[in-house]
Amino acid sequence: MAMTNELLRYFRAKEKERASETAAATQCPFCSVQCTLQLVEERIVERRRYKAVPTDNPTSNGRLCLKGMNAHQHALHPERLLVPLAKVDGRFVRVRWEEALSLIAERIISIQKEDGVDAFAVYGGGSLTNEEAYLLGKFARVALKTRHIDYNGRFCMSAAAAAMNDAFGLDRGLTNPLSDIPLAQTIILAGTNVAECQPTLMPYFDEAKKNGAFIIVVDPRETKTAALADLHLPLKPGTDAALAVGIGKVLLDEGYIDEAFVRERTVGFAEWKQHMEAVEMDEIVRLTDVPAEKIRLAARKYGEAAEAIVLTARGLEQQADGYAAVRQWINVVLAAGKVGRPGSGFGSITGQGNGQGGREHGQKADQLPGYRSIEHPQHRRYIASVWGVAPDELPRKGVSAYEMMQKIEAGEITGLLVMGSNPVVSSPNAAFVAKAMQKLKFLVVADMFLSETAELADLVLPVSSYLEDEGTVTNVEGRVCFRPAARKRPGEVKHDWEILCAIAHKLGKGRFFPFTSAEEIFNELRLASRGGKADYYGVTYERLRRERVYWPCPDPHHPGTPRLFTERFAHPDGKARFAVLPFRPEKEETDEWYPLYLTTGRVLAHYLSGTQTRRSPALSARQPEAVVEIHPRTAKRYGIGPGMLVRIETRRGAAVVRSRYNDQIREDTIFVPFHWSGLGQINNVTSDELDPHCRMPAFKRCAARVRPVVDLGRN
Ligand code: SF4
Repeated sequence: MAMTNELLRYFRAKEKERASETAAATQCPFCSVQCTLQLVEERIVERRRYKAVPTDNPTSNGRLCLKGMNAHQHALHPERLLVPLAKVDGRFVRVRWEEALSLIAERIISIQKEDGVDAFAVYGGGSLTNEEAYLLGKFARVALKTRHIDYNGRFCMSAAAAAMNDAFGLDRGLTNPLSDIPLAQTIILAGTNVAECQPTLMPYFDEAKKNGAFIIVVDPRETKTAALADLHLPLKPGTDAALAVGIGKVLLDEGYIDEAFVRERTVGFAEWKQHMEAVEMDEIVRLTDVPAEKIRLAARKYGEAAEAIVLTARGLEQQADGYAAVRQWINVVLAAGKVGRPGSGFGSITGQGNGQGGREHGQKADQLPGYRSIEHPQHRRYIASVWGVAPDELPRKGVSAYEMMQKIEAGEITGLLVMGSNPVVSSPNAAFVAKAMQKLKFLVVADMFLSETAELADLVLPVSSYLEDEGTVTNVEGRVCFRPAARKRPGEVKHDWEILCAIAHKLGKGRFFPFTSAEEIFNELRLASRGGKADYYGVTYERLRRERVYWPCPDPHHPGTPRLFTERFAHPDGKARFAVLPFRPEKEETDEWYPLYLTTGRVLAHYLSGTQTRRSPALSARQPEAVVEIHPRTAKRYGIGPGMLVRIETRRGAAVVRSRYNDQIREDTIFVPFHWSGLGQINNVTSDELDPHCRMPAFKRCAARVRPVVDLGRN
């Protein structure tokens, strides 16, 4: 016995000697807050244990949500792709990088020769770093010379971006720093579920509430965010524009207009006022199904507040009239003169980790870096000079993300490179997209995992995760943030930017892509953005290692711009624009065959198409499958019990998910999260109607019907 104890003590002491702990700084890869953390690796002999420890920064202030705490689980997952894979006879086999890159170059050359230069397209993502998003745009325009590049951010921020550009002359998600939120006396959260989508932002609203703020939440569901609200407006899905018009009408009728602000800082008020005179509150109530007294209370609370903030997000924007809905809210903000001051402003809360930076530097079909326009002669000249090409060599604008899929189906696009995205799950009417993709002559996908899109590819390239890829992202506040690499890359994994440079070399365009580090790419991005709306010239890696910098930041001594539009808006005359927009009834209405509204969104434990979060055991355990939230009375009407499998049918097809009773959702509405593939993939049935202004799909409303799935075992 004594001997055994002695031995145990000996081995424990030895183990202690061999145990070690390392910690590396990084940043959560998921939402737009970009919380910072340390990944701590404990090694005890051969065993390794990891944990995420939040670290401080001025946005998340030392907070981390469930997703950030467990993000490393997917990055360390055994299903990570470690070598390039080529499909041979329907099965993936390992190939060497050299073979893979040669094959890509060969296929690009042959497709462009056979079908035209625009037949090879590029599809990017809002989670790529700024450097990679920038380089992807340059790669498409300079190495491929194709006009067809777009990205999944089209599904995220396009309505708000287009509306803010047209109204303010500039699109940055928030006009104010987050620290302004507690200064507001009224806060309107329209179509945004911060509590589940950006949880570490909630303390800003808690603090505002402690300071006495009146919080209004506009959402068809009583979400976790709505639980915080003093007033919840459970509008009918897809009627956000009408609701904002109703609020504007009350402001006008009850004298809440800031006339000096309107006169000195805006144009178009007289036309807007005239248009609003014809608006009837009864019509607004009929459209939105929100009682007039609640609309009036919301408008009065907003109008009376000395300082107030309106924030929107995808709930309002992912509509066939998402652009109009954002513009109508901006009309409200301008009429009340509540922007450009501490505690007063407007914002659209960015979804993806780099949803902001990813849309500024050229991944979008019509944009060049620094928010320049690909159709503007001066902008083309400037970017061509930075890239060392003739302006005429730059292609013109292409089409939006979903329209690229339609072109694939039509045989106009026959080759595609997908980087940092999973359109087979994230697109609307996704079953159509999966079918269209199979028509491609060549599909190459760069991903960490064999995603649903990668499964369809001819070639899959393994890329680094957030833990391994140094670079910058621009967060919800418009702050550029540096994310250091915390670990070495596993296997033969490459960074996305390395892959683009390597393909360019194979195509004989290597001289335009001489980069050996992310910092070198960033320095070219700074130059390309110089003088543009999103001016990063003054932001350097050296500076970012010390601080997060708000753009615009035009020179290295500039402090950055936390609050926009304090004196001028970004249009040449310095004034903001009111918009007169008629109601655009959505095409897809309910009827006797499809009597319910289907709306979609996120849940706390998952992110986008779930490629990463579904592979995190902790997150997957939290919610392993899609569910349909349905009001108990609606469920009973269709014979659906709690936890029962439900078939949801729309005019495009069907999905099967389990029911979850929720008595805080409208009885005419069902909600399904969009993070899953397979039978429960709700995007297989969502609407592909596109907003005419920004080409945002109408994810948030289509007509649906439900029925319990018959238990075959009992028949
Ligand atoms: Fe922060 Fe968003 Fe990551 Fe959560 S998901 S830890 S809120 S960055």
